[in-house]
Amino acid sequence: MTAYEIIAKKRDGTDLSPAEIKYFIDGYTTGIIPDYQMSALLMAIFLKGMNESEYKALTHTFLHSGQIINLNRVSGIKVDKHSTGGVGDKVSIILAPIVAAAGVPVPMISGRSLGHSGGTLDKLESIFGFRVDYTVNEFIQKTEKINVCLIGQTAELAPADKKIYALRDVTATIQSIPLIAASIMSKKIAEGIDALVLDVKTGVGAFMTDYEQAQRLANILIRIGEDSGKKTVAYITDMNNPLGNTVGNWLEILECIDCLHGNGPDDLMEITHQLAGTMIFLGNMADSIEAGIKISKNMIQNGNAWDKFIQIVQEQEGDLGIIRNPESYPQSKCKSDYHSPMSGWVESINAYEVGMTAVQLGAGRQKNTDLVDYKAGIRFYKKAGQKVEEGSLLFTIFTDNEDIIETATERLSCSIRIVPQPTPPPKLILNYIDEANL
Ligand code: URA
Repeated sequence: MTAYEIIAKKRDGTDLSPAEIKYFIDGYTTGIIPDYQMSALLMAIFLKGMNESEYKALTHTFLHSGQIINLNRVSGIKVDKHSTGGVGDKVSIILAPIVAAAGVPVPMISGRSLGHSGGTLDKLESIFGFRVDYTVNEFIQKTEKINVCLIGQTAELAPADKKIYALRDVTATIQSIPLIAASIMSKKIAEGIDALVLDVKTGVGAFMTDYEQAQRLANILIRIGEDSGKKTVAYITDMNNPLGNTVGNWLEILECIDCLHGNGPDDLMEITHQLAGTMIFLGNMADSIEAGIKISKNMIQNGNAWDKFIQIVQEQEGDLGIIRNPESYPQSKCKSDYHSPMSGWVESINAYEVGMTAVQLGAGRQKNTDLVDYKAGIRFYKKAGQKVEEGSLLFTIFTDNEDIIETATERLSCSIRIVPQPTPPPKLILNYIDEANL
């Protein structure tokens, strides 16, 4: 077989065999097959899709391109959570200490912000000194010691995915369900977990804007997980509005601190407790998801989740002084308030527009190599479903770039839809899927 023939086969809509997929991916990872041929295959997959045998073979090849972490030293059922990405989604940072405090080990490998969506690693790195670049051995040791560790993808884990993800990013082939599924699941299986809770986002601020597509992605992720012997369940959740009140790395850490002290906004805490409760259930520390949710709430009330967060920051070399004394964090050079021009009810805040504005303010990346301003972002004072009075404060912009304030204010104010009649807050949890109801 040749790379040319494999590309032509997929282009013409013929299914690839596991051997062909392995030949191509291994060839690309080792540098024998060049970028231009991999790009052509990625576009053919994007256009023609993949069947179940193909996406499972692709995941298997990504997974075995690197190391599979052995977490046998860590006792208990190891459970992770993965979100397909959104705006203001800081759930992992609240949930990891909750679940670990409840006695379930959480080995978590997270991602960085890209495009309009935020990334857990950037949020954590806004805490001075916080490290997410530990080796696999350090990751195992830390998980064993404090029941949780949050790091980024290392060179040893699914390196084929790492190389191909960078190519997808510049060839407009990110938004392909089989490619996304293989990419996510190869990294999750490589982590050495026993079970996985997925948060598949849908709406204007998600990768999968369409509900049917999100459902398809969730089904495929579950099939791959279960096929690898990992208990895998998924929630489909709304990402039309930003989650919580803040968007931007340090602002989101401040919000996580509030959440861990029991002062989190309702939408953010609803998703956090649902996912955390499900992890606690899958980790065998509760008899049902509902019982898991009660434990999750209790971990906030009794302060154990906060203590665990402090332990994580300490173990991962973050500056505890700044966490205990957040007002000493450097301030943005510019801070600009926006007040509502009318009275009414907030119907929606367009999450995609908010995410892209946050990038313009300096909070995110347009390319992998862009530097992030951790202080930059937006704080909202009203959310979808809430009443507003003319002249009341709607949001504050934080940035070092004064030149951007006018356009950012314009874009954000246009992203908020205010209507004259009461409107309910959006339903957040749209579906729950597990192996039994695929
Ligand atoms: N996250 C990943 O890890 N991979 C994708 O392809 C998309 C989101």
